[in-house]
Amino acid sequence: MQQGGSIAPAMNALDMALEQFDATAARLQLDPGLARVLRVCQRELAVNFPVKMDDGSVRVFAGYRVQHNLARGPAKGGLRYHPDVGIDEVRALAMWMTWKCAVVGIPYGGAKGGVVVDPKLLSRPELERLTRRFTSEISIVIGTLRDIPAPDVGTDAQVMAWIMDTMSMHQGYSDPGSVTGKPLSIGGSEGRTEATSRGVIYTIEQAAQRLGLELKDARVVVQGFGNVGQHAARILHETGCRVIAVSDSRGAIADPSGLNPADVLRLKEETGSVVGFPRATAIGNTELLELECEILVPAALEGQIHAGNAERIRARIVAEGANGPTTPEADVILQRRGIVVIPDILCNAGGVTVSYFEWVQSRDAYFWSLDEVNTQLRRIIVRAFDDVARVADDQHLTLREAAYTLAVRRVADALGTRGIYP
Ligand code: NAD
Repeated sequence: MQQGGSIAPAMNALDMALEQFDATAARLQLDPGLARVLRVCQRELAVNFPVKMDDGSVRVFAGYRVQHNLARGPAKGGLRYHPDVGIDEVRALAMWMTWKCAVVGIPYGGAKGGVVVDPKLLSRPELERLTRRFTSEISIVIGTLRDIPAPDVGTDAQVMAWIMDTMSMHQGYSDPGSVTGKPLSIGGSEGRTEATSRGVIYTIEQAAQRLGLELKDARVVVQGFGNVGQHAARILHETGCRVIAVSDSRGAIADPSGLNPADVLRLKEETGSVVGFPRATAIGNTELLELECEILVPAALEGQIHAGNAERIRARIVAEGANGPTTPEADVILQRRGIVVIPDILCNAGGVTVSYFEWVQSRDAYFWSLDEVNTQLRRIIVRAFDDVARVADDQHLTLREAAYTLAVRRVADALGTRGIYP
């Protein structure tokens, strides 16, 4: 983590992903051949590509697209623009996407991509040229029926629009199914922007119900105020929770009487950060994670809750809006301390679920209302939560172990049924 004062994660994301998979494979007594297949990523494309900068100079950027497994359908996963992007992180994120799609039962395999860049340091024309050239480079592996990108850290609906347009220009016809998280004007879905956060909230409601925890006035802390964090904070505030602290890469703010996330967002839009919000106290990102609260929503990057701070987490529920925010060592500590972790592959699966709805709508050229989207989203997330909770109860597992058990079994079933070609 390059900014924000948080302790660097003790573990690389791929080590985390492999440790989680190996434990699940052992628990399931997975056929060793299938385990060998699922332990690695099926396809990995690394590209170095030039971009003309506004001052006339040429810079070369590194980027990746990795497809972990395609047994359950085309590959699906976000594109990240961040200076710390690396092949191992992309592999881990691709693997997590495979399990996530399986947990919620949508017909995709997992993929992820990224470019090593700080998008905040590029002008809009530079960002567009970078996106179009990167899309062109990876167009040999992506596409409506192959692998469908979506937004992730540092990318948004506009970036998706440039990807869709570039893919369409290559093909000579409009291809809205080639990407999700697009703006509504070019075939995006109602409800996609906040879908990940809505899914996070649906899982929090289910977990709170299991614990007998009242959400009214529950204290909420959100790390990261981007797409996932800001909508999660806003919806939880609307639900009656008290959002007592939020953060971004520049720092954190706290107000025990409750922040109004809509006001914080206005400041973030004006100044680029939540820091400096009037009436709130400025705190460090490390301190933010350790605040006493009912619900902690890590919604930034990987490895934020680790062996070094897990003993000091004072939440009843950790709802993983981010991918991989808790290391396996921290998982053990949180479990011992009775803190319920809603695992990323379940908690933030609302995003890929509505991406699936968007892809279906794009391919059908028939569009759903916001009500239909949210109703179907709730149905899928609540069903997935119930499936996971049932396995957890039956087999005395944590929610993460149960989610992995379900997911890996489903993917292994698909792989076993399709067989090993030739
Ligand atoms: P984003 O780029 O919109 O926002 C990321 C936020 O995290 C920003 O506010 C940034 O300032 C903040 N941040 C970065 N470093 C930080 C630090 N050290 N401390 C505190 N905050 C920090 O990204 P996003 O799309 O909201 O994604 C956030 C997480 O959610 C990622 O793990 C991503 O993989 C995951 N996720 C996103 C989606 C989606 O639909 N966008 C879906 C599922 C999972």
